Amino acid sequence: MDMEKYKPRYVELPKPITTLRRLSLLGLADMEELLVLEKEYGLPFPLLTSEYFVSLMDIKDPQDPLRQLVVPTKEELNAYYNMDVSQQKERGSFDTSGEHTNLKAPGLQHKYGSTALALISNVCAGLCRECFRKRIFFEESGAANEATFPNEKAIEYLKKHKEINTILLSGGDAFMLSDDSLLDLLDILADKTLDHITTIRFGSKIFAYYPQRVTQKLVTILKDYEQKTGKCIQISTHFEHANELGPECIKSLDLLHGAGLIVYNQTVLLNGINYDVDMLYNLFSKMAEHGVRPYYLFQCRPVIGSMHQQVPLVEGVKIYNKLMQRMSGVHKPLYAMSTKLGKMQIVGLHPENENIIVLRRHSSKKIEDTGKVLFYDVSKNDPYWVYT
Ligand code: SF4
Repeated sequence: MDMEKYKPRYVELPKPITTLRRLSLLGLADMEELLVLEKEYGLPFPLLTSEYFVSLMDIKDPQDPLRQLVVPTKEELNAYYNMDVSQQKERGSFDTSGEHTNLKAPGLQHKYGSTALALISNVCAGLCRECFRKRIFFEESGAANEATFPNEKAIEYLKKHKEINTILLSGGDAFMLSDDSLLDLLDILADKTLDHITTIRFGSKIFAYYPQRVTQKLVTILKDYEQKTGKCIQISTHFEHANELGPECIKSLDLLHGAGLIVYNQTVLLNGINYDVDMLYNLFSKMAEHGVRPYYLFQCRPVIGSMHQQVPLVEGVKIYNKLMQRMSGVHKPLYAMSTKLGKMQIVGLHPENENIIVLRRHSSKKIEDTGKVLFYDVSKNDPYWVYT
């Protein structure tokens, strides 16, 4: 594939829903106040879901967890209407992990030694209200063009950096690219000059939002590529609640599992959605039954419009500890957060002072800091997030 000729092409989401009015017509309860706000001020962070995803909700329940994943709330809308990015701590930011400081070429981030992150798509099959990369969907953020991998500069950077052995393909949603587009992209990454990249990891929430996209053909493309190139394909799913794993989702996971692909999951701990030991236990157990390894439980980032979805760190640790008492060894996710300092493992509470969170640097930009332990006092600092 000649990279000059590469152009991303996307699959179409069947029966997309982009307005609150449509949701209201489908029978979602308690929409009146939101409809008034939408009419008056618009939706700053767009709405996108589908009739399929709505079919998994209890439409009569305004607190339904899947509804809260994709439908804006009053708290969210008020946060945007009062948006003042100079008050970042109070209102959040659009780049909570400092991703712009890791940009090495358009669409390519390199933060830690062996892993690079490529943004290959600015299209999703649903828009999560807590999305930490929502800036790519906001014209005003100046980041709407971030998802531009592959391009010449990015490939040159990868060629030179032989220490990179893993590339994470994300966005947006990696699997919203069409099969042909994915094949072209994989072809570019199979070039001899990129032999040091031995693992290609896809980040995708398609299994929850649009599992019908995961066809036998897609799985065969991925498996054939592994066999042809010797590179390992890994898939990182993103689930927050067991209700996302409906029969069609399970079918898509079983296709991956049956083909022997490595699949693991990342979950964000979200107030009102999965802030409960039983809910998390059900989610992780159901995933494990279908070959998906729970990998990370992430602290919700302080993103503009999502601050109300954060759970206090102390509470998060307490939930996590109870969860660990019930999960079997390999199914225990790591409780972590991605801060500007790097990825931190949230280890636990100090045995003598419950206000002190014990953190361990899981990955650090300064490689020699990896593994170092930190103590974070929530009585003197933000109780939800470690700012630097
Ligand atoms: S699927 Fe991923 S990129 Fe898309 S809105 Fe959700 S969190 Fe953001």
